[in-house]
Amino acid sequence: MYKKDFPILAQSITYLDSAATTQKPKVLLNQTNTFYKKDYANVHRGTCALANQATTLYEEARQKVADFIGAESKNIVFTKGATEAINLVASGYAQMLKEGDEVLVSIAEHHANFVPWQQACIKSGATFKVFNILPDGRFDMNDFKKKISPKTRVVAVGHISNVLGVVNPIKEIVELAHKVGAKVLLDAAQSISHLPISVKDLDVDYLAFSGHKVYGPTGIGVLYGKTEDLNELPPYQFGGDMIDEVKVEGTTFALAPSKFEAGTPPITQAIGLGISLDYIKKIGLEKIQKHEKALMKSLIKGLKEIPNIQFLGDPKHKTALVSFNIAGIHPNDLGFILAKENICVRIGHHCAMPLHTYFKMAASMRVSFGLYNTKQDVQNFLNAFHKAIGFFK
Ligand code: PLP
Repeated sequence: MYKKDFPILAQSITYLDSAATTQKPKVLLNQTNTFYKKDYANVHRGTCALANQATTLYEEARQKVADFIGAESKNIVFTKGATEAINLVASGYAQMLKEGDEVLVSIAEHHANFVPWQQACIKSGATFKVFNILPDGRFDMNDFKKKISPKTRVVAVGHISNVLGVVNPIKEIVELAHKVGAKVLLDAAQSISHLPISVKDLDVDYLAFSGHKVYGPTGIGVLYGKTEDLNELPPYQFGGDMIDEVKVEGTTFALAPSKFEAGTPPITQAIGLGISLDYIKKIGLEKIQKHEKALMKSLIKGLKEIPNIQFLGDPKHKTALVSFNIAGIHPNDLGFILAKENICVRIGHHCAMPLHTYFKMAASMRVSFGLYNTKQDVQNFLNAFHKAIGFFK
């Protein structure tokens, strides 16, 4: 329905890898071009009209992000991606944690929300703890309750796993974490383009996502933090724009979000993210969700008919992505044939090695949807997949 808004999809290609990155709407390409042609300058420093206009557009983009997740603009930090946003918080905690403290993450986390916390614990002497999932892919809340304690300082979890596609019970996690005084960081990289999100409603302390997974540019990401948490967190990088006063004797820092935006920020990318969020808002996330749910239903129906299919988690819980294997055939071999048919899917551990270890699989195939996918895309995939399996039988 919306495919025509995405020039790249005019090619003969079936793009089913939106969990890795989404394609870009024409409106983003056109308006980015206009910004470079008409309004481009550095932000926050200049006095000329161009600099003022660039600063206005950059700060308007911050407001658009805030509105998109029900926050205030002073709580939105621009980063270069979800990975940098999580590293920013984890590296702050590496300085604030001490021996005896604990950080709790799930086994299903993307490496971006796993390794930075593991490293923060190594550096600080805190204990890194991991809670399990159930075989159907949902969080094992009994295990979570066993592992959270008054020693837990941070709980870092994904909203939707990039392998399982399950929506996790964030409100319950937040309630239990706050009861013991722990902060919650929500990795929203896989939910931001599929679910309406309100940070006020979820009551998370931090939230991170990437622009490129929500139809925006690469090189831009978002960290949301509650005011008291952003104030407590030490700066991540030092330099221009993040200071209050610099003297030979010492430096004081600006308030958030400037404190975390050292140097020239990704100006065009931030403005581009705002354009993409406008585009999605116009369509409506509820409508996108309904469309993707219908696509998933027909994909799962087709996949279930294939002998020897092994889903990672119960297929009934999938949102806009599903991962699976065919027993006895390596997904790389199947992927090779799909690529020849111009079908883009993802093969590998999807940056979730602990989760694949849990399922005793080295790799899997993942099909993921964006708002531009159609029933025809699902059919193209199923036809090619049958052909690939037939080849290896
Ligand atoms: N978290 C999840 C769940 C992801 O799927 C990804 C990317 O695939 C990331 C974090 C990291 O995002 P980025 O590589 O854009 O920083």
